[in-house]
Amino acid sequence: MPSEPILRFAPSPNGFLHLGHAYSALVVDRWANQLGGNWLLRIEDIDEGRSKPAFVEAIFEDLHWLGLKWPEPVLKQSVRQAAYKRAAAQLDALGLLYPCFCSRTDIRDASNGQTDPDGAPIYPGTCKALSKEEISHNLRQNQPVQYRLDVGKALEKTGMLTFTTVQPTPLDRPEITYARPQRWGDTVIQRKDTPTSYHLSVVVDDAHQNITHVVRGRDLEAVTDIHVLLQFLLSLPTPLYTFHKLILDDEKSKLSKSRGSTTLRDLREKGWTAQTVRAHLGI
Ligand code: GLU
Repeated sequence: MPSEPILRFAPSPNGFLHLGHAYSALVVDRWANQLGGNWLLRIEDIDEGRSKPAFVEAIFEDLHWLGLKWPEPVLKQSVRQAAYKRAAAQLDALGLLYPCFCSRTDIRDASNGQTDPDGAPIYPGTCKALSKEEISHNLRQNQPVQYRLDVGKALEKTGMLTFTTVQPTPLDRPEITYARPQRWGDTVIQRKDTPTSYHLSVVVDDAHQNITHVVRGRDLEAVTDIHVLLQFLLSLPTPLYTFHKLILDDEKSKLSKSRGSTTLRDLREKGWTAQTVRAHLGI
């Protein structure tokens, strides 16, 4: 691991940034400064249907408005497909990927009401039982296919996995957490619409960019289970993790693009300045 701390802020350009993003970016910036390190901006645009160039431009503009600076060039995940395919091939060579042709409805029906930490139905491994002939038949018919990680088999190779969380100084108390990837079921590694997934891309790119500290909201704490497992299987280093508080709206819900939360540009139009944002967020 390089000695210089490198953090990252990694938004997805599928909407305008809101106060939750501002908080995350400002925490990353503050902590990188405290550590005497740097942070990188990464655009997580694997989702071709939802990512828009206009949102990428808006991310740059909003972060500049907040007074933040980052090194160029900015990595966009959309140009990294070859690296993700190589990583998926590595998992496949370990015998850990299998094709799955199930629809959302199939998965919901098969899950018996079992849900993962995000509340989504857990996939019970239906397609693991498919014969080679059935798989070839489905592929020949061009049935939409996704590739899943056989988590049980993967854990036989890894044994118990942990990750370390740290709090920004002066609190800096490392805590060890046991990863529990099995609570997510056989997670998707290559989606139907793109030969990667959030989990695979994030793990590959954190290693590619030598990220030493991953700082993200508490809503992404549980998925670290999967990230640590992938890091082990792909022989990639596991960074330190920090999960910061979430910024809530007046109804005490997490701010989100899908809920139409007030964006930074709305606030700017209302006369907020970068100072107002910082004061509001206590940074
Ligand atoms: N791109 C993700 C998001 O906007 C965050 C990525 C991460 O911190 O791992 O929610």
